[in-house]
Amino acid sequence: MPKEEILHSFFVPKLCNLCEHSPCAQVCPVGATFDSPDGAVLVDPKYCIGCGFCIQACPYGCRFLNPATHTAEKCTLCYHRITRGLKPACVEVCPTQTRIFGDLMNPVPDDPLQNFFKNNRVQALKPHLGTEPRVVYAGMDKEVS
Ligand code: SF4
Ligand code: SF4
Repeated sequence: MPKEEILHSFFVPKLCNLCEHSPCAQVCPVGATFDSPDGAVLVDPKYCIGCGFCIQACPYGCRFLNPATHTAEKCTLCYHRITRGLKPACVEVCPTQTRIFGDLMNPVPDDPLQNFFKNNRVQALKPHLGTEPRVVYAGMDKEVS
């Protein structure tokens, strides 16, 4: 009798992983994609020529061309908010508080992010690529493609 297989599915939100070694920035021919000093990967639409190289280069499928502006876009971790001391909007509104945001280098008292790291095993997506994502996931028991 064939061994019964148990299938299960789960959701993995694919936001920009804010790679420390970001392939999208490395391939951009005009420097429109760049690393901010505080660790965000951003796009300056003034310089973007819409070539799409970054879309091909992103191993996480996180970029797209805005059909109206013909420039590349992606999640910026709500850079306009986090630079004002606010949380990213997705973290703020998530009804199940699934997302945690913080700065491990500058922890606050009883830091929720540090506490989470102490108590959970986390993993990055596609770690073998060496992109060093700043976004990590907990509760995954398998590699996600
Ligand atoms: S996840 Fe993709 S878009 Fe985001 S920094 Fe990494 S390579 Fe760039
Ligand atoms: S689409 Fe824009 S941001 Fe992406 S590689 Fe081309 S010029 Fe750079």
